[in-house]
Amino acid sequence: MKARSLDEAAREASTCTRCPTLAQGRTKVVYGVGHPNADLMFIGEGPGKHEDQQGEPFVGDAGQLLNTMLCEIGIRREEVYITNVVKCRPTKVVKSRPPSNRRPYAGEIEACAPWLAEQVGLIDPKLIVPLGNVATRTILGDRKVAIGLVHGQRFVWKGRTVIPTYHPAHILYSGGHKSPKMKALREDFATIRAALDSGGCPTHRRTSGCPADWAHAT
Ligand code: URA
Repeated sequence: MKARSLDEAAREASTCTRCPTLAQGRTKVVYGVGHPNADLMFIGEGPGKHEDQQGEPFVGDAGQLLNTMLCEIGIRREEVYITNVVKCRPTKVVKSRPPSNRRPYAGEIEACAPWLAEQVGLIDPKLIVPLGNVATRTILGDRKVAIGLVHGQRFVWKGRTVIPTYHPAHILYSGGHKSPKMKALREDFATIRAALDSGGCPTHRRTSGCPADWAHAT
C-alpha cells in the first residue's frame, strides 16, 4: 500500500484530539514545515506562543537563531524539515496570568509519537538533529540522557544518523551570544555540516549573506 503524503498526514493532524488537554488549549496544530524529502530534520520540544498562533514551528526568537545557525553552515530553512516532539503548545496557567510555555508531559509525548514516527518515515532524512533534552530523550529513547553530555555526538537510530544539539531557546536564556554554550552550538552545527557533506547531500550548497546577526539584535 502506498504511504500517504505529508500533506495528507498534516491535514489529519490539524484536527487531532489524541491528548484532549493540549487539543483544547491550542490555537493551531503545529505539524511541521520544510522540504518533504529533506536530508536534514530538526526536532524541537513543542510549539510556543508564536508557533501556536502561526501554525509553524520555530518562528520566534529561537527560530531566528536556528535560521542563523543554518545560514552559517550554508543551508536555507526551506531545504530542511523542522518539527517538534509534540504538535500542540503545552501551557501552564499561574493565577490569572496569561498561559506560559511548559515542557510536554510524558503522556503527551507518547500520544503525539505516532505523528513524529510517520513524519520521519515519510521524509526519510539522512540526519536527525534533536534540539535540547526533551527531543534528544525522545529520539534516543533514554529519559536520563543529558544534552550537555551528548551534544555534537553521533548516534545511530533506526539506521539514521542522529546528532543532538542544544535547544536554541536554551542558548538565548543562558546569555545569547555571550553564552559559553554558543561556541558549542556553532561547533555542533559544523559537525552537522560535515556529516551532511560526508553523506553526500548535493542540494546543500553553501549560501552567503546570512540574516542580520541575531547576536546584535538580542
Ligand atoms: N521551541 C520549540 O521547541 N519548538 C518551537 O517550535 C519553538 C520553540
